[in-house]
Amino acid sequence: MQRVVIGVDLGGTTVSAGLVAADGEVLTHLQEPTRKSGPGTALATLVDLLDRLQETARSRGVEVTGIGIGVPGTVDAERGLIGSDIHYVPELASTPLADTIAQRLALPAFVDNDVNVLALGEWMFGAGKGTRSLVVLALGTGVGGGIILDGQLHRGQGGFGGELGHVPINFDGRPCICGGRGCLKAYVSGTDIGREGSERLKRPVDAATVFLLAEQGDTVAREIVGEVCQALGAGLAVIVNGLNPELLLLAGSVAKSLKPLEREVRIETGRYAFERALASTRIELLTMDKDATVRGGAALVSYETGRRSGRRP
Ligand SMILES: [Zn+2]
Repeated sequence: MQRVVIGVDLGGTTVSAGLVAADGEVLTHLQEPTRKSGPGTALATLVDLLDRLQETARSRGVEVTGIGIGVPGTVDAERGLIGSDIHYVPELASTPLADTIAQRLALPAFVDNDVNVLALGEWMFGAGKGTRSLVVLALGTGVGGGIILDGQLHRGQGGFGGELGHVPINFDGRPCICGGRGCLKAYVSGTDIGREGSERLKRPVDAATVFLLAEQGDTVAREIVGEVCQALGAGLAVIVNGLNPELLLLAGSVAKSLKPLEREVRIETGRYAFERALASTRIELLTMDKDATVRGGAALVSYETGRRSGRRP
């Protein structure tokens, strides 16, 4: 019987889950609004998706051997315990999600920060395959990071390793959702670009619209996009100078909008980073397909199973 795992991306807006083969191929992909049954129902949505995927696996004659879940917050991955600061799915704060799911489905379950999970997926199955060190910076509603160094995911002592959205790039800058000030996230997340755009353009716009208007020559929008590139350049320099990874991947909706501005981002990064460090780190803007995050969940199962049995992945 073919063995598969279930990979899950549990986001603030949608939950994606799929059956993933050992080579990373996504066999089935399901998606639901996170709170399809009303406020506070993320767990119910997740369990329902998992039940349906189990059913699909049975009907296809494949065996599910584990579940890997990425969530938008810090996680004690050893215990599968979600931190208290999960801003986008607050109903899961401080819950032992891995144990809950493992007991419910009688399968090994692992939980980690969503961008750690994405980094594992890209490292095992995607753009980072074969690299020894890889950093993913995901620019979406929020900004998160995932760090793989010397073939190991760097989670940090308290699960904060990779929180690159909250490195301060402006010490007296904008207040941030995390309680800090001048964080990279406060300048380059989709939410913040949209808010800044709405304020300065004096009408409600989202981040994608700000980029579109800039492309069409709107002076104010161009100014905002210029600031986004500069802030991102400073943030990337933190990564390049601090870690000098083999590969630095930018992912998420904002990375997609930045694709035509790749050159500007590089120039701005060059203003802050060591020239030779930057020359030895490959920077790529990832336009992900929707399977990428689900593959990440599967990579987490494989990585953790190997790590806990003492095998190096
Ligand atoms: Zn912050």
